[in-house]
Amino acid sequence: MTTAPDCCAPTTPVAATTCSTCGTTGRAVKLVTLKALLTPAALATLDSSEAYRFCPDIACDVVYFSPSRTYRQADVKVPVFQKDGRGSTPACYCFGHTRTDLEQATREGRAEVIPQSIQTHIQAGRCGCEVNNPQGSCCLGNVNRTLAALREASHA
Ligand SMILES: [Zn+2]
Repeated sequence: MTTAPDCCAPTTPVAATTCSTCGTTGRAVKLVTLKALLTPAALATLDSSEAYRFCPDIACDVVYFSPSRTYRQADVKVPVFQKDGRGSTPACYCFGHTRTDLEQATREGRAEVIPQSIQTHIQAGRCGCEVNNPQGSCCLGNVNRTLAALREASHA
């Protein structure tokens, strides 16, 4: 990723919204997400007075950052979908749909079954993305984007 020269940089403190390692803008995550998903050793260093963000960059090892801290993949108890391309990595953490599951469903022509099932669970109030998914928010966007990419690849 190319970055703007320093003269054009925003005047707000950069560390607050962009990853200090890769410069990608990160979405804010709740403290409860870090409390649920950091390893015990990493959690023991958490400054609960700070605001944390999630770095979604595929090439960056940082998962969470705050003005003074960074937590990397090794500090998180689960593989991070955005950063870990293995088939066993979940796309949907709450209901355990892995990348391999999405690929298999696409091959079998029943890809829509997975997002439909997740929707049903969401409507029934069963989703726990805040404490299950490292991004701290609903997986459905990731699931739909992955399925769309698989569909496109299968038509190519
Ligand atoms: Zn990063």
